[in-house]
Amino acid sequence: MNDLYPARATVDLDAIAHNVGVLRERAGSAEVMAVVKADAYGHGLVPSARAALAGGAVALGVAQPTEALALRAAGVDAPLLCWLTAPGRDLGPLVREGVEVAASARWTLDALAAAAREQDRVAVVQLKADTGLGRNGAYALPLRSGPDTDWSDLVAHAAALQAEGVLRVRGVFSHFAHADAPSHPTVRGQQETFARAVAVAEEAGLRLEVRHLSNSAATLTTPEAAWDMVRPGLAVYGLTPVPEVVSAQDFGLRPAMRVVARSVLAKRLPAGQGISYGHAYAPSRETTVLDVPIGYADGIPRHASGAGPVQVRGQRFSVSGRVCMDQFVVDVGDLDVDDGEEVVLFGPGDEGEPTAQEWADAAGTISYEIVSRLGSRVPREHV
Ligand code: PLP
Repeated sequence: MNDLYPARATVDLDAIAHNVGVLRERAGSAEVMAVVKADAYGHGLVPSARAALAGGAVALGVAQPTEALALRAAGVDAPLLCWLTAPGRDLGPLVREGVEVAASARWTLDALAAAAREQDRVAVVQLKADTGLGRNGAYALPLRSGPDTDWSDLVAHAAALQAEGVLRVRGVFSHFAHADAPSHPTVRGQQETFARAVAVAEEAGLRLEVRHLSNSAATLTTPEAAWDMVRPGLAVYGLTPVPEVVSAQDFGLRPAMRVVARSVLAKRLPAGQGISYGHAYAPSRETTVLDVPIGYADGIPRHASGAGPVQVRGQRFSVSGRVCMDQFVVDVGDLDVDDGEEVVLFGPGDEGEPTAQEWADAAGTISYEIVSRLGSRVPREHV
């Protein structure tokens, strides 16, 4: 760490490529769309996207249009699906860049059609069905108030615009609510609803190239849900979406991110000296503490106060007292340490260091949050 910021996230791009290989195997004949939204879950959008493609992903998925356009601006020309667009926004740039846009409602189809007419192009769309997640997507289950679903209406509108020649419906997709609990009844129920939603689209004359439903958890645990494509995110980065059931290593996944900070100070403190805001912790005997310059503004969860694990000189310790905005303190007892001591927050775990999952457990959250919220202040180094 030679630059001025004393913490760093090292991202192993080979691990990302390897993980896509694992997912491809799990997916059988289905292709992999690697989800690289949220700066590739904190791992760095463009390098991670390229690594995922190198590992055999045939397409990329993002949430926001800005993410899709950033990939295109960096020269990534792989098929790209963007699934969160806002009403009243010009979708022209996405159409111009050949980004496939997800539609959950008529207005998205109309906005795409308008952009396509203006540019004299065909906009490519994938229709999103809500098969029971109760979030994004046109509702594909019947409502009490009438025989038709939102889904049938969306499909009919898409088919009309396709017949006009301004739009091409390339795919249909949906998202699970309980993929991390494979035996939950909704997992089967959503697959059945999805099959009906696909049938409605095909009966309306839409010739679908891709139909996809599975996130990481479903790809790894419910292979029969794979259809033509799977859409994993977390597992691409080597983390398990079902930590209570199977570890990342048992799936053959390699966690790609390692976060290391260098302490800015080592000092002795007497027994009873309260540490950090609120003095939530005080050592029971004279001890050495390290001041570690990374805090909640960098995504280190304040909920991990007193609990977040670290490794110093091969030994495990935990955050002592509260995590502050830019720093936290670690009581290392009588360990012989220097001011600029290397403090490993998390990594793959193969050298005894904590994992992102352990930080998630310490903070009462999920590993998704640990990696994706790692702040932009922490430099990413891709190796
Ligand atoms: N598909 C959609 C629509 C998503 O929103 C996400 C992420 O939340 C994914 C796929 C990837 O999910 P996971 O990271 O659990 O694999």
